[in-house]
Amino acid sequence: MPAKPRFFDTHAHINYPQFADRIDEVLVQCQEHGISRVIAIATDLESSHQIIGMAQEHEQILAVPGWHPCDALNAPGDIRNELRELSQKPGVVALGETGLDFYRMPSQSEEGATEATDAEYVRRQRALFQQHLEVAAETGLNLVIHQRSAFDETVEMLLPFADQVRGVFHCFVGTPAQQQKLQQIGSIVSFTGIVTFKNAGEVRDTVKATPLDQLMLETDCPYLAPVPYRGKTCQPFHVWHVAQTIAEVKGVTLDELSEATCATARQFFRGLD
Ligand SMILES: [Zn+2]
Repeated sequence: MPAKPRFFDTHAHINYPQFADRIDEVLVQCQEHGISRVIAIATDLESSHQIIGMAQEHEQILAVPGWHPCDALNAPGDIRNELRELSQKPGVVALGETGLDFYRMPSQSEEGATEATDAEYVRRQRALFQQHLEVAAETGLNLVIHQRSAFDETVEMLLPFADQVRGVFHCFVGTPAQQQKLQQIGSIVSFTGIVTFKNAGEVRDTVKATPLDQLMLETDCPYLAPVPYRGKTCQPFHVWHVAQTIAEVKGVTLDELSEATCATARQFFRGLD
């Protein structure tokens, strides 16, 4: 029997409670589906330490420490020293997730939050993103980037670092023109289970327009379970279903997709094999 084409889940929140007591089971499921590497993504310093610990315990897991923009108001003023230290730990392959998210301001979702809170939220997000960019440039690591309703602002902040730092714009739902813009500055995109959703024709159009060597696959689990698991807890092995849809949309075989996306991930993430 020919070997199953292998894939990586390049964006998984496996420190979340949904996976807490069943990491071994999660990794067995991955193995059964040819998912040989799971890249664990942190959202703050505590989860950064958690995923680095997981990476030390399991060779299939790699770690991306950082601080998520949506948690910016809870972040210390300057985390550059912590990021520098984390970047040296074994199993660390990039920094993030970082970036800008202006989709929902605190005044729209939190009681007592005012316009001043919103302004502070934006200021803190920008400061944190800048800190990730600086440490990434210093350490030679790339960045896992989260952006929502802030594409132009995110690109503008990345641009001065584009010679030294590449970004992966994760959970990409942008236009082909936006993908081209990212490609021009050396950054890539990754696609989640959204590509399998019935109403996501525009995202599939972007997949179609994205060159095969400019994309990676991810789940963003526990969110965004692909069809046929939609609405359930997303698991890292579900990236197999993302792969099937993308191969179909691009008109390539699973082997071709495996080869291209694994090569792209190895170039992007430090020390990934
Ligand atoms: Zn994420």
